[in-house]
Amino acid sequence: MKTDIAILGAGASGLFLAKYLKKDYILIDQNEIPQKIKVSGGGKCNFTNEKVSYKNYLGNREFVDKILKYYTNKDVLKFFKDINYQKIKNNQYFASSSDEIIKKLNQKKFIAKILKVEKKDNFLIHTSKGIIEAKKVIVATGGISFTSLGATDIGYKIAENFGHTIITPKPALVGLTLQKNDFWMKNLSGVSLLCKVEIPLYQGKKIIDKKIFKDNILFSHRGITGPVILNTSLYWQKGSIKIDFLPNYKKIKTNKSPSNLLKPKRFITEFLKSQNIKDENKNLDLVVEKLKNYTLSPAGTFGFNKAEVTKGGIDINELNDFESKFCKNLYFIGEVLDVTGELGGYNFQWCFSSAKYLTDKI
Ligand SMILES: Cc1cc2nc3c(=O)[nH]c(=O)nc-3n(C[C@H](O)[C@H](O)[C@H](O)COP(=O)(O)OP(=O)(O)OC[C@H]3O[C@@H](n4cnc5c(N)ncnc54)[C@H](O)[C@@H]3O)c2cc1C
Repeated sequence: MKTDIAILGAGASGLFLAKYLKKDYILIDQNEIPQKIKVSGGGKCNFTNEKVSYKNYLGNREFVDKILKYYTNKDVLKFFKDINYQKIKNNQYFASSSDEIIKKLNQKKFIAKILKVEKKDNFLIHTSKGIIEAKKVIVATGGISFTSLGATDIGYKIAENFGHTIITPKPALVGLTLQKNDFWMKNLSGVSLLCKVEIPLYQGKKIIDKKIFKDNILFSHRGITGPVILNTSLYWQKGSIKIDFLPNYKKIKTNKSPSNLLKPKRFITEFLKSQNIKDENKNLDLVVEKLKNYTLSPAGTFGFNKAEVTKGGIDINELNDFESKFCKNLYFIGEVLDVTGELGGYNFQWCFSSAKYLTDKI
C-alpha cells in the first residue's frame, strides 16, 4: 500500500491532525476506538481549560508557548461548539460524554500493530498486516502509561532508530507512595480533604523555584492521590514536599479539642495518634502549626499503569517545528514528545495544538 502521509496512532493528536489534513493519508492504529479519550475525565473527557499557559506544562517553554498561542483553548472550544460541554471546577471543560468527542474526531483507519519504520527512498512502515510505503511519516503514538489501553513505546523506538534522544519517560499525574514515617495515612483509605501542596523545582541539585497547588488529597491503601497529588507528581523529582492540611484555617478563641474543632475528625484523630499528641485544647496551636507545615518525602509513584500521562519522551530540541532534525519528512506530535501538562485538560489541549500546527505547516 502507498500513501503520501502515514499517521501512526489514532489517539487525540493523530485524529485531530487527520481531521484537518487535505492530503492523501493513511491513519494506522491497533485499536478501532481511541481508548484514552474514551476513559478520560471519568468518561467525560476534560478536553481543555479556560486558562492555558506554557506555565501549566513541563517542556521547552518557548516552543510550548508558540504552539499554544497558534491554536488556543478558544479555538478548541470553537471546534467542539456543536457538542454538549460544560465548564466545571478549576476552569475545566468537560464533554457530557467522551463519546461525543470521539464521534467528532473518529474516522476511517487501517487497523494494525505498528512494528517498525525504516527509510529507503520513501518510508516503509512495517505493520502486523504488511508494509505501507509513505513519503512522510507523522508519529502520534502517545506515551507509555496505561498499557491496558494500548499504549506502547513504539514512538520512542522509531525516534531512537533515527538518532533521537529520549528524555527518560516517567509516570506523571499519578498517586505517590509513602515512606514509613507517613504510613499512618494508609489507615485513612477513602478520606479526602482540601489541602495546599508546595513542591520545590530543581535545576540539578539547586532549588530554583516552587509550584503550589490547592485542591483535594485522597488517601488510599497504596498512598496518596487525588487532584492535588496528581499535579504534584508532575513536578516532583525527589526529596520532600510541604503540605498545608488546613489551607482555610482561621484562628478563633475556643476551648474545643483539636479533633472537635478541625475536620475531618477521622483524619485529625489518626494524625494525633501518629504524632503522639493528646487531643486536648492546650495542644491546639501546636497541632495547627504541624498540620499547616507537614513535610512529606514520597517513596515513589503508583507507576505507569496508574499514571494518566508519561513525562519525558522525545527531546523537542532535536525537532524543527515537529520535524526531525535528523530525518526529513519525519514528524512527532502529542504526548510522545517531552511536553507534559498539568491536570485539567492541558494534555488534550497540547495534542490538539501540536496537531493543528503541523497540519497547517506540512
Ligand atoms: C485514565 C486517563 C484519563 C485521562 N484524562 C484526561 C483528561 O481528562 N484530560 C486531558 O487533557 N488528558 C487526559 N489524559 C491524558 C490524555 O489521554 C493523553 O495525554 C492523550 O490521549 C495523548 O494523546 P496522543 O494522541 O499523543 O496519544 P494517545 O491518545 O495515547 O494515542 C496513541 C495511539 O497510538 C496507538 N498505538 C500505540 N502504539 C501502537 C502500535 N505499536 N501499533 C499501533 N497503534 C499503536 C494507540 O492505540 C493509541 O490509539 C488521560 C489519560 C488517562 C490514561
